[in-house]
Amino acid sequence: MRRLSQVQPNIDIAELDFISECIEQNWLSEGPKTKQLVERIKDYTRSEYAIMAPNGTLGLYVALLSCGLEKGKKIIIPSFTFYATASALIFAGFIPKIIDVNPLTYEMDTSILEGAICEDTVAVMPVHIYGHCANMSEILRISRKRNLVVIEDAAQAMGVTYKGKHAGTIGDVGVISFFSDKTITMGEGAVILTNSEDIFSRIKYIRNQGRENSGTFVHEELGMNFRITDLQSAVGLSQLKKLPGIISSRLIKYNEYKKNLQNVGDISFGLKEPDSSFVPFRFYFTSLRKDEIQKSLELSGYETRSYFHPMHLQPKLLEYVTYSCPVSEEISLRGLCLPIHDGVTKKDIKDICSIIKRHF
Ligand SMILES: *Cc1c(COP(=O)(O)O)cnc(C)c1O
Repeated sequence: MRRLSQVQPNIDIAELDFISECIEQNWLSEGPKTKQLVERIKDYTRSEYAIMAPNGTLGLYVALLSCGLEKGKKIIIPSFTFYATASALIFAGFIPKIIDVNPLTYEMDTSILEGAICEDTVAVMPVHIYGHCANMSEILRISRKRNLVVIEDAAQAMGVTYKGKHAGTIGDVGVISFFSDKTITMGEGAVILTNSEDIFSRIKYIRNQGRENSGTFVHEELGMNFRITDLQSAVGLSQLKKLPGIISSRLIKYNEYKKNLQNVGDISFGLKEPDSSFVPFRFYFTSLRKDEIQKSLELSGYETRSYFHPMHLQPKLLEYVTYSCPVSEEISLRGLCLPIHDGVTKKDIKDICSIIKRHF
């Protein structure tokens, strides 16, 4: 039986051509391809500065270290996100303050945000979930009033804009991931975006052994090695060329699913923030019959994914919990993600939707 996987990167001979150039030029570690990729990403996102990181998690870690924040202070994050949002900030020396999300958009609930800010809060870390941006106007308005730094977890938001600005360039610093299940991929990889020269300068030192350039052995700052390889950047350059095609194909598939499942039983779709564009990360919906639907789809060869498990219920984060987050809990119980990658055909979508309809 054919099995349709939940994620499948769009990689082919085009990536191989770019990788071959690295081999021909005898250059594998960070070099010309990475330089080129950074320039392309800057053009695409219109970010003043961009710098690569080994993956989204470490990108967030470096971004958190680069804002000049006092360690031991609190950073507000939404409960409905991937674990790395929380773990990166704990490893960077901060304390997560976990708040609930909006039931319609799944993004940080900005009506709770202001009340959650206390004297030792230093930053807010919104997450742009499932392909659209958090309510950045409100988050920025509240954060600026209280002098808080805004760090965007834009891991899932390549290609997504908010009021015309690319995700990750709206707050002080932001991170986009290029892991295999993201919109475009380098296998592992990420980019850190900022419009602040200060933050950019700190990142440069932290990621390259505490010095401005390689080849010198005077290290002005404490730093480590968060560089990537040109082999990864070669793949990234090819993927960036494919991005417009990937985005339009995902939108077509998302709408196809939606058309088929409109008004079916209690199925409800997440909504995007009005001021955000949308680059579907998965097709995602909630239903009280999620468990049985998931079972049928798996039996028919369609791999599904549940929603995230809330941060305030994670075994190692319990000690940080101060608020209940009922919305995050509820959507995580009822939510299901379906594949939307370039290997999904129109017939797959029809099949998947007819299996789902049988449950109502
Ligand atoms: C994938 C993801 C990350 C981590 O990125 P990696 O590149 O896998 O380390 C962080 N936050 C969110 C919301 C993600 O989806």
